[in-house]
Parts: sequence; structure tokens; C-alpha cells
Amino acid sequence: MPRSGIRVIMDRAFRMPDCIRLEVGEPNFPTPPHVVDAATQAARDGRTRYTENPGIPELRTRIAEHFTRDTGRPTDASQVTITTGAVAALYTALMSITNPGDEVILTSPAWPNYLMQMKLLGIRPVAIPTTAETDYAPSISQLESAISGKTKAILLNTPSNPTGAVISNTTMAEIVDFARQADIYVVSDEVYDRMTFENPHVSAASHDTDGRVVCIHSFSKTYAMTGWRVGYAVAPPEIAQLIINCQEPTVSCVNAPAQYGAIAALDGPQDVVLQMRDAYRARRDEVLRLLSSSGIDAHKPGGAFYIWVDITDSGRSDMDFAMDLIDKRQVTVVPGSTFGPGNEGRIRISLATATTDLYEGVSRLVEEIKS
Ligand code: PLP
Repeated sequence: MPRSGIRVIMDRAFRMPDCIRLEVGEPNFPTPPHVVDAATQAARDGRTRYTENPGIPELRTRIAEHFTRDTGRPTDASQVTITTGAVAALYTALMSITNPGDEVILTSPAWPNYLMQMKLLGIRPVAIPTTAETDYAPSISQLESAISGKTKAILLNTPSNPTGAVISNTTMAEIVDFARQADIYVVSDEVYDRMTFENPHVSAASHDTDGRVVCIHSFSKTYAMTGWRVGYAVAPPEIAQLIINCQEPTVSCVNAPAQYGAIAALDGPQDVVLQMRDAYRARRDEVLRLLSSSGIDAHKPGGAFYIWVDITDSGRSDMDFAMDLIDKRQVTVVPGSTFGPGNEGRIRISLATATTDLYEGVSRLVEEIKS
């Protein structure tokens, strides 16, 4: 298993406690208190035993209702599997729809865990390079060139980690239509769906007319619940049953109190979600201002909480630059090549960092690029 570049950076950062951490991909907000209360109460009430493998019925029903409302695709609770974070939803979904030797198309840059999971599952990844010109979405002609008789699925991520790009309604319709004609699945990682700044999020499921889209979601980012490990997959019925079957021998079920916390997150006030999103948008605008006033190019993210920064002016590779930035200025960022080959001229910074640290870290980043 190749090591993720982010771990290399984090290992060095652990030895420097005063580092400004711009590599972290988790909200700097606390889990809402009503979620903590509900989980605590569940534990006190003795709801501490195994639950049904695919999750407690109440939570699956709530999610199916939300999903039907948000995507327009009628969804039954039996199509929902509660998983140990989105990471497990993705893994069991990929496991369910592929055999070793199959191919899955994805875009580059992409979240590194996709390639790591595919390696574990014996899937051959076929990466399509994307750029800011197409807002980091694959074109249909690229998909046509990438497909083969072994292709089982296209893996999408909107809003994207690391670019923050949001797939538009038209592009999503074209991609799902392409998958329909090619008779392959779409696995759509939508963990940042509630964090869009201008254009609304479009789920791949909203264009699914014949049951070929598997959506991956999470409570981690939306409700600042990364450590609770609750995510879910929503799939067409026959795939949902396979996901449930695969989950049984691997994780059994998600921890019970955390699932009750997740119900409280869905049922409780949603203003926390909007407050976090608004905070990320304000930080995005300020960071883009700081970068552009120094002539540094960065992609304007339409969602999620990352900024994809061009460091070619530094004259160094992403890894050399990231190491210099830690050693000389005590700031951590993620080297672009972590998100796939061909991204050596970029680094990723996270907006999910307290503002004083964020703006100070970005100022030092600018100084290092210019040095
Ligand atoms: N998908 C993407 C694109 C992510 O960035 C992450 C976490 O960083 C995940 C999935 C995993 O989220 P979870 O905490 O729900 O496993």
C-alpha cells in the first residue's frame, strides 16, 4: 500500500507542535450539543448493543425520506446502509459492484483513498486528467476514450476534494446519460453536498432513471462528526443488498450511540450546517483575496472546504515545497501529487482551520512561494 503524501507531512508536523495546520480535512467546529446529548442518552438508556447490520431502522427511514426529497428519486429505507463513515460506504460499494480485474474510471486530482481502496480490491483505476478549464469535470470524449469492456463504474466526487469544484446540472445529466448508454454504474461521493457556496449541489441520483447510481454520504463534514464514524450508501435495491451482505463480515454494524446521534443531527436544527458553510465561504473569499493580491493563482472552489493553489512560481515540486514550508515557516499543506500524478504544481490547503491560523498560514505560504 503506497503511503499517502499527507501522512508524510503529518508525521513531520507531529514533531513540531507549533505548526499551523492547513492540511487537516475536518471541521474546526464542535459536534452540535444536541447530537452529543442524544448519543449520551442512548448509551445511558442501554442502547449499547449490536444493531441491525445495515443500521437502525429509524435512521435508515429518515435518510430515505431526506434522500427522496433532495434527489427526487423515490428511495426506500431498505436501499440505505449505515456505514463506518463514507470511507466504508465507498469501500463496500466498490466491493459490491466489481470483481478483481475490473476497471473504474475516476478523475485526477482525486481524494487519495479512492486509489488505495481500488488497490485493495484489485480494481484497475483509469484516471482522467481534469483541469480548471472544465471545472475539473471529465468531458464525454474523455469518458469515451477511458471506457473498455472491463469498465464497471465511473467514480465522481462533487463538491470535490481537493478542488472544491461542483459538477453542474448539465454536466451531471450528461455523465449519468453516458453511464446509462455504456451500461455501467455511477458511484457518486457527495460527502460535501451541504457545503456549496453559489450553485446548488446536484446529486447524480437526481438523473438516475434506471437504478445505476450509488450515492455516498456522511455525517462527518456536514455535522462536524468526523470521529463518530457515521456515513451511508444509498443504492439501487440489488446493489444495496450486496452492500449490506459485504458489511456483515467486515464491520457488522456502526456503533449504536453514534447512530442515535445521527438521528438527532438530521432531526435537530440545521442552522449549524448553514453557519459552518457561511464560515467556509467567508474564509474562502479572504484566502482567495490574499493569494490573488500576491499574484498567486488558485481555483475558486464552489463547495467543500479546500483551496487548490498553484505553486509553480516557487520553482519547486509540490513535495519539496511542502517540506520547505514546514521546516522554514512551520505551516503544513498537502502536496498536489497526493491527489494523483500530474498534480505536482499544486498544493491543497484546508479552510477548516481557525481564521487567525488560516490567514497567518496563508501569508507564510505566499512568502514561501515568492522566496
Ligand atoms: N470522501 C471524501 C471526498 C472525503 O474528503 C472524505 C474525508 O476526508 C471522505 C469521503 C470520508 O469521510 P468519512 O469521515 O465519512 O469517512
